[in-house]
Amino acid sequence: MLRYYFFVLGAKVKYGEKRFLLTINIMIIFAESIKINSFHLKKYSMQLYNKLSAKERETLLELAGEERLTLSFYQYAKIGNPELFRNYLFIAWHEQDVLGRIYVAHEGINAQLSVPAKRFKEFKEFLDGIYFLKDVRLNIAIEQDLKSFLKLKVKVRDKIVADGLNDETFDVTNKGIHVDAQKFNELIEDPDVVLVDMRNHYESEIGHFKNAVTPDVDTFRDSLDIIEEDLKDHKEDKKLVMYCTGGIRCEKASAYYKHKGFKNVFQLEGGIIEYARQVENQGLENKFIGKNFVFDHRRGERITEDIISHCHQCGEACDTHTNCANEACHLLFIQCEKCAVAMENCCSEECIEIIHLPEEEQKRLRQGIPNSNKIFKKGRSEKLKFKK
Ligand SMILES: [Zn+2]
Ligand SMILES: [Zn+2]
Repeated sequence: MLRYYFFVLGAKVKYGEKRFLLTINIMIIFAESIKINSFHLKKYSMQLYNKLSAKERETLLELAGEERLTLSFYQYAKIGNPELFRNYLFIAWHEQDVLGRIYVAHEGINAQLSVPAKRFKEFKEFLDGIYFLKDVRLNIAIEQDLKSFLKLKVKVRDKIVADGLNDETFDVTNKGIHVDAQKFNELIEDPDVVLVDMRNHYESEIGHFKNAVTPDVDTFRDSLDIIEEDLKDHKEDKKLVMYCTGGIRCEKASAYYKHKGFKNVFQLEGGIIEYARQVENQGLENKFIGKNFVFDHRRGERITEDIISHCHQCGEACDTHTNCANEACHLLFIQCEKCAVAMENCCSEECIEIIHLPEEEQKRLRQGIPNSNKIFKKGRSEKLKFKK
């Protein structure tokens, strides 16, 4: 079946020194099955990928000393050719000095970024020029960090959130009712409400809403089944209120639960990030305790001074996530400052031994061992005595 999409892009892209002007002012009407391999981009041999390493970028950021804004946004929208859209974004954002991690798919876009503060207006105008991103809600981080992202990575994926759901099996547009911070605060006082944290265990471990159910899961998909099982007798009489980091996971989860027969489903609009902002701006009571886990170099954004978790190595109160210093391990876990010193930023004695080997030897040991999925196996190691 041929599905046609309209895609209107209007842009002037200035490239590097050459002040290269590329006017993509095209109406692309094309079928999904036709591969348009970014021909007009390649023709001008434009840079479509990072050239700087993270280290080089870090140095540049330090030298520039410019203020940057960390922000995120997402939008579900039909994108005919994600590859082309990806290249379009990369070229524009590279030029605007935007850094971050962005996923593009046929179903939409999910972006976590850092933008030079002085170029924010330009960035916003660029977004507004893309019809499905006009006035998209930007979740702006409370705590700013110059180095929240060190690269610009725009990736084409099957989905913008790895939710493990088959979207064909339910109506993804039949979502829950979106509530703002004020309404959310009222709602969760209702005794008929079950408040559910849609994030993974390592996220809720350092911070969550008071009285929330926090499933002990590694993935979003796992949490869906566990929650459904726990609440199966209350699909009609209870109100299911859910939240996540920035709201994106609840977009699918709320539709999924409605499909599963839950009658009253609510979701926190913009997630914890937007909640914290509204609470602050409107002087509302803050019902979140601890830190909001975020997926950039900062790892967490402090919402209240409460420290609700413990160092996984000594059990002291601590909510600082770190990745094991052994590149081949990279386990994400909670480590206090004392243990960081004593353990040389490692998760275990074995990893300490490895980091003391010559770099060549370490490289040899790493060969063929994928570590990426371990990075977010937060504290799921037998070696950590005080893991939750
Ligand atoms: Zn410790
Ligand atoms: Zn380790």
